[in-house]
Amino acid sequence: MPAQNTFKRTLVTSALPYANGHIHLGHIAGAYLPADIYVRYKRLRGEAVLYVCGSDEYGVPITLTALKEGVSPTEVIDRYHTANAEAFGALRVAFDIYGRTSWPLHADTTQAFFRKLDEGGYIEKQDMELWYSEQSRKFLPDRYVKGTCPKCGYDNANGDECENCGAQYAPKDLVEPRANIPGDSSRPELRPSTHWFLKLQEFSGAIKTWLDSHPEWRANVKGIAYSWVNDLRSRCITRDTDWGVPIPTSDPGAEGKRIYVWFDAPIGYVTNTRQWALDRGLGDDGWEVWWKDTTSRLIHFIGKDNVPFHAVIFPAMLIGQGDYIAADNVIGNEYLNVFNRQTGRAEKGSKSRGNMISVRWFAEKFSSDAIRYYLCANAPEARDAAFDWDEFINRYNGELCDVVGNFVHRSLTMTYKNFEGKVPAPGALDADDTALLESLPQLIDAVAESLEDFRFRQALERFIEIGRKANQYFDTKAPWVTRKTDMARTGTTLYVCCQVVRALCTTMAPFLPDGAAKLAAILGIALPAGGPDGGEDAWNAARDRLSAGHSLQTPVVLFPKLDKDYIEELAAKHAAGEAV
Ligand SMILES: [Zn+2]
Repeated sequence: MPAQNTFKRTLVTSALPYANGHIHLGHIAGAYLPADIYVRYKRLRGEAVLYVCGSDEYGVPITLTALKEGVSPTEVIDRYHTANAEAFGALRVAFDIYGRTSWPLHADTTQAFFRKLDEGGYIEKQDMELWYSEQSRKFLPDRYVKGTCPKCGYDNANGDECENCGAQYAPKDLVEPRANIPGDSSRPELRPSTHWFLKLQEFSGAIKTWLDSHPEWRANVKGIAYSWVNDLRSRCITRDTDWGVPIPTSDPGAEGKRIYVWFDAPIGYVTNTRQWALDRGLGDDGWEVWWKDTTSRLIHFIGKDNVPFHAVIFPAMLIGQGDYIAADNVIGNEYLNVFNRQTGRAEKGSKSRGNMISVRWFAEKFSSDAIRYYLCANAPEARDAAFDWDEFINRYNGELCDVVGNFVHRSLTMTYKNFEGKVPAPGALDADDTALLESLPQLIDAVAESLEDFRFRQALERFIEIGRKANQYFDTKAPWVTRKTDMARTGTTLYVCCQVVRALCTTMAPFLPDGAAKLAAILGIALPAGGPDGGEDAWNAARDRLSAGHSLQTPVVLFPKLDKDYIEELAAKHAAGEAV
């Protein structure tokens, strides 16, 4: 049996999006939609699941945005926190809490992590040479200084990394440095500054043992994790900035410095669990069972770029706390690129190219089900995928609408019209009827099996496969013909069809929550939301049968088809950079 039965509860996290911009479709396909599908499935199963996420609100780029716009950093994070929470809502991504790292509670959690690591001897101080602007009277971390990359010669490289070639280097190696602050592009000078470092190399052995104990993980995640674990060294966890969690020490060197965002951001998962427990009246330590009890299972969903943090660095920080559980799986997805119709090639989504599609732009134009269907059917699981307008309409119209939507609609409308809105009583079942009915439990289990294995594309294909089999049956039995000659046979056929529709309703719920809710209302069946406390196994109820005489509500089209002209119009706007 799958491992989930040995755990009492599952804590699922999705990477905290940075509150410095609007989330786009690539984010959703990577860290959020697969997690939400998994969580919805587990909740349906009646398992205790908690799904936490929130905004990552500290870091140098946010203060730079604020400086450029002439507003406060708080204004920047409030804007994007609100906008991104709305975008997730529009796609029905159902977090139990969407928290904020700017909460005072988060400073408390982060400082507790820091202190514990410090007590364990895992933190050291190092003297560094950093760029300092005489004109602005401040040190210039990260993007506050620009210059020429020492590796590739790119002339707009950041203080410690190059966007062009991906190189990371010591700030002093930057060539031709210049301050990058509105009103200050002076040449900075190197000055000594003391910073705090996490001694990651101390955790190499423990991380390796933990990685070795998980042969079931995806190859892409393990590959990246092993490449890091063999080369761990002390990593700076502080920055010269006044925007961030204060360093919990009275050392004089801490003045003008804050904790570096890569250290505090993943701790946001813990903070948000704490806040969720407080909101629920579970007390100050109501969160601990999720993070410290060995019967709890922790699963991170992330994009590929976040693998080192979730499969090496954050686990080291958790091990250093002494009493936290380690993640049971880290689901890292590849990238969703963007297909360029002009060049006929997929390219990376980027702000400067203007080819990105923000969720707020896209979700205004399409249903959450259409978006979720396409992003899951085309999920970048094992390799990069690309958003392509033609594929979007072809797959949604050709698979979800034509296969599942069409079967459900013609079954229900024929039943509704010909049998007074009730599930007809079946006569004697023939071989076709029996074969389809008896195959249902296996077909439902096959979807579940893929979901348990985090194979979301495969799970969705298996769901569509139920619709294909049902359509074949429908076409063979031709109830629109038998209706004129043999009402008893027609009744039996539609009885069988209603049972498949019932099975489809539950199995679609993790992927397509809006369509499932509409269908459940027509069928008059319950789809319990589930949650952190667990409950009954409603997934298994997918194999229950609707009894003859069961009343249906008026059928509606679950998945309206997309119009080709509308797609072309939007594709043109996208190409013009309007979708960002
Ligand atoms: Zn470079």
